Amino acid sequence: MTVPVPIQLPEGRVIITRKARFSSAHYLALDEWDDQQNFNAFWKASGKPGHGHNYAVEVGVEGTVDPATGMVMNLTDLKAMLLEEAIEPFDFKHLNDDPAFAYKLPAIENICTVLWQCLKPRIATPTMALRWIAVSETDSIWGSILGTNDDNETDCMTDTHHFFTKTTQFCAGHRLHNPAFSDDDNASIFGKCNNPNGHGHNYQLDVTVTGPQDDRTGLIVDLGKLETAVESVVAKVDHLNLNTDVDFLTGVIPTAENIARGLWGQLAPLIPAPASLHRIRLVETYNNAVEYYGPQHGQANDVMGVQPVAMAPR
Ligand SMILES: [Zn+2]
Ligand SMILES: [Zn+2]
Repeated sequence: MTVPVPIQLPEGRVIITRKARFSSAHYLALDEWDDQQNFNAFWKASGKPGHGHNYAVEVGVEGTVDPATGMVMNLTDLKAMLLEEAIEPFDFKHLNDDPAFAYKLPAIENICTVLWQCLKPRIATPTMALRWIAVSETDSIWGSILGTNDDNETDCMTDTHHFFTKTTQFCAGHRLHNPAFSDDDNASIFGKCNNPNGHGHNYQLDVTVTGPQDDRTGLIVDLGKLETAVESVVAKVDHLNLNTDVDFLTGVIPTAENIARGLWGQLAPLIPAPASLHRIRLVETYNNAVEYYGPQHGQANDVMGVQPVAMAPR
C-alpha cells in the first residue's frame, strides 16, 4: 500500500506510518435487495453467511517532531489506539454483526471510513493529525482515504478523498532502443536494456481510481467492472513483446514511463463512472517503479497515450 498522491507537506512536518492486521468475516448485501440484485451488484461477495479476509490497515500521521522525544507521536500510543479501534472490535468477528456496519456495507471504503472516524479525533492535537489511512482486503485490492491537515474541521470527513486500488501483474518483453541514435549511443544510453534480442519483466500494475461514494453502498467503484476493465487492458500487453506486439506502443520506446502512459490512455475511458482513473503505478523490477497521474499533471503535449519516437537517423 502506498499513498496514492504526491503529498505536499508544510516545512518541518513529517509523516509516520503504522500497520495493524485483523481477520474478519463479511458479506456484501443490502437488506432491501433480493439475492439476485445483491449478486448482480457484489458478485460472490454477496453470498451468506459470508467469507473472510486477512485485513491490513496502515495509518499515516502527519506532525511536527517533538524536540524532547524526536518523535511525532509515541508509536506505543499509536499501536494501542489501533489495537483498541481496529483489532479488538473486528479481529475474528463477523463485520456484518458489528453496530458500525448496521447500515453501512462492510466494504473496504466503509471500513476505511469507520476507522477514520474513530482514529481522527483521537490523533488530532495541535502538533499532529491523521493524514491517511489504507485498508487492504487481499494482496490485490485496497482502499484509502486521504485527508487534509486541517485539525479545525467540525466534521472529520470533510475534505477527505477516497481511493481504490486494484493490483495485477503481467509479463512482457522489451528492448529500449531509439533507431534515430547510433548503435554506440543506444548502448551508452540504454545499457543492457538495449540488448538486441530484448529481455523481459514481471510487471506489477497498480490501478488507482477515485470518485464520490455511492449514497447507499459507500462504494466508489464497482469492483467487478473495474477488474474487467483492467483485465481487458492487461490482455493487450501480457506475454507479448512491447516493441512489436502492442498497437498503442507502436513506435514508442517501451520504458516503464511510456508503458504507464500508454496504459493510462487505454484504461482511463474504461473506468466505470462516476469513478475516474487517478494513478497508474508500474513496478518494473524490485528496484524501480513509475507513477503517472494522467495528462493533466504532465506537459501540454502529454496527451492520452504516448508520442512516437523520432524515427529519422541522425
Ligand atoms: Zn470480501
Ligand atoms: Zn527492461
